[in-house]
Amino acid sequence: MENTTRKKEIPLPLPGHGVKLIDTHCHLDMPAYQTDCEAVLLRALAAGVSRIISVGIDLASSRRAIALAEQYEGVYATVGVHPHNVAELTEGDYAELQSLCRHPKVVAYGEIGLDYVKNYAPVSLQKEHFARQVALARQLHLPLVIHDREAHDEIMEMLEGAGPFPAGGVMHCFSGDGAFARRVLALGFYISIPGVVTFAKAEILREAVREIPLGSLVLETDGPFLAPVPQRGKRNEPSLLLFTAQKVAELKGLSLDEVARQTTMNGVHLFGLEGR
Ligand SMILES: [Zn+2]
Ligand SMILES: [Zn+2]
Repeated sequence: MENTTRKKEIPLPLPGHGVKLIDTHCHLDMPAYQTDCEAVLLRALAAGVSRIISVGIDLASSRRAIALAEQYEGVYATVGVHPHNVAELTEGDYAELQSLCRHPKVVAYGEIGLDYVKNYAPVSLQKEHFARQVALARQLHLPLVIHDREAHDEIMEMLEGAGPFPAGGVMHCFSGDGAFARRVLALGFYISIPGVVTFAKAEILREAVREIPLGSLVLETDGPFLAPVPQRGKRNEPSLLLFTAQKVAELKGLSLDEVARQTTMNGVHLFGLEGR
């Protein structure tokens, strides 16, 4: 549960100083950040997280993500409708989604996909709107941000049938094993590692991280959700990405600097941030 009134200092892992990271997936527009968004962004900068992709989950949040990207230099936006929210999608919404994508700070389409855990929308509708939004992203030459919960096979079948994707994409909040990772990589997509990798029970994910080449990894908070240990259960925020980067470095036997450098390069490539 988030608590927007908390004022306690968040401990940062000190060796992070000097690194530059990209939080490739955060919901900066959510109410959890409403009262202290600027403080959150300042803490992110202090922790080396200089660029944040604020991800849309419906039309309204896509608009808010764009507004934040207009307001703050290091913030970029995505546009899309999450599988939880597809039941309300109308034809008119598609026209607006498409026009929002022309904004210069929109760097990807998503998050879109299938969620078979919550099933807030009927599966048939999830699939219909996933396919339609994938086609729209392809037409607009935008990279895809994919949300997948317990829907590995169906998502991959869909993407493998609809590709290729010259603009690429990312499997956000990756929750599969090494075999699933290889299938995602074959599509030319990046794999995004959330703070879950620090959780005690996430051994399958840690094993996958050891296997996936560093050249294919990006990092995310998925804030305000899924805060890494030692902040697990609290509100997540971009500055906490350092804990995830440190864990990935430890799993790969590399320095934090090397993990930061390569994953940031990957994020720059994925979202076309060269020179931005
Ligand atoms: Zn998601
Ligand atoms: Zn998300």
